[in-house]
Amino acid sequence: MKKPVYLDYAATTPVDPSVADDMVRYLTPDGIFGNPASRSHAFGWQAEAAVESARKQVANLIHADPREIVWTSGATESDNLAIKGAVAGRTDVHVITSTIEHKAVVDTCKWLEGRGVDVTWLKPDHEGRISPAQVEGALRDNTVLVSLMLVNNELGTINDIASIGGMLRERGILFHVDAAQAAGKMPVDVTTMPVDLMALSGHKVYGPKGIGALYVRRSPDVKIEAQIHGGGHERGMRSGTLPTHQIVGMGKAFAIAAQSLSAEIEALEQLRNAFLEGLSGLAGVTLNGSDTGRVPGILNLSFEGVDAESLMLGLRDLAVSSGSACASATIEPSYVLRGIGLSDEQAHRALRFSFGRFTSHEEVVFASAQIVDVVTRLRSVR
Ligand SMILES: *Cc1c(COP(=O)(O)O)cnc(C)c1O
Repeated sequence: MKKPVYLDYAATTPVDPSVADDMVRYLTPDGIFGNPASRSHAFGWQAEAAVESARKQVANLIHADPREIVWTSGATESDNLAIKGAVAGRTDVHVITSTIEHKAVVDTCKWLEGRGVDVTWLKPDHEGRISPAQVEGALRDNTVLVSLMLVNNELGTINDIASIGGMLRERGILFHVDAAQAAGKMPVDVTTMPVDLMALSGHKVYGPKGIGALYVRRSPDVKIEAQIHGGGHERGMRSGTLPTHQIVGMGKAFAIAAQSLSAEIEALEQLRNAFLEGLSGLAGVTLNGSDTGRVPGILNLSFEGVDAESLMLGLRDLAVSSGSACASATIEPSYVLRGIGLSDEQAHRALRFSFGRFTSHEEVVFASAQIVDVVTRLRSVR
């Protein structure tokens, strides 16, 4: 069977072949397989050197100090560590987040709520943005943490993290930012974005799955409570033997991202334009999210009069995503699309198309032609 065209880079990316080449050198008997925490022999020292070099590469992409990078198993764990770690078991505190965060943040905040923490769920505007004024208006005397994403994974909308962070920094309130969809897709610079904690993932940036990082600011010094105990790795914040091959892979992937960022953004813009150009003959297509202030690789589109599930069935040659989740017998519309004010009906007509490094011009031209065909056919049989 011919493989469908992959247009779901926001869900995950393939590992860059040069990253995979590097990773295998840290697994086998002839490679650097030692435990990076082994201090008594060269196997350990070499593994540790590889881990520290990767730490620099990850730090470099966001202009952080390598000592501010804590390895985790992915952005989900980083979000958990940041939020639970900042709250540190207290229940008489207040946390602010939004209704359209990734589930890693939503479910962690719901868990805190269940334990007595007050959580304010800010509602974004129709483009998916939270304003600094909204955050400021929600602050209380006991607010200890604000958690917002830099780029929304369903919409591609970019939040004004610098302004929100500046306002929170003045008040000494911790700011956690999920940047899993931003790293490698737009400039991210913690020297100009006043954030305290930032979640990163390997597999959204052409690195392997199962590895991520949490940026933890050193100046001013941010204290978070560990969630996984056992040996005190990662300056006590996250114990467990470090997966050298995964870490080397994420480091290499982030180094490539840093080096090719502007070229990659331009290439994605061209792909997006070619894709939209291909759809231009089709009426009743609306872009969900923001026209401006978005990353180029994610397009969330609603097709008037066409149900997304039927459309996906017709688009067998494309691998795309509908934000909808199958909960029991019914299909739940995306909470993100509902969160920016779409009706259930509108949300049921939306598909997310996301492009990446290995997407070709031919593929997006093919994809848009397929969409025009299938939408036209579905509309004609209504
Ligand atoms: C993918 C993603 C995550 C989860 O990352 P994992 O590394 O898969 O755990 C968290 N937040 C956002 C915004 C994401 O896109």
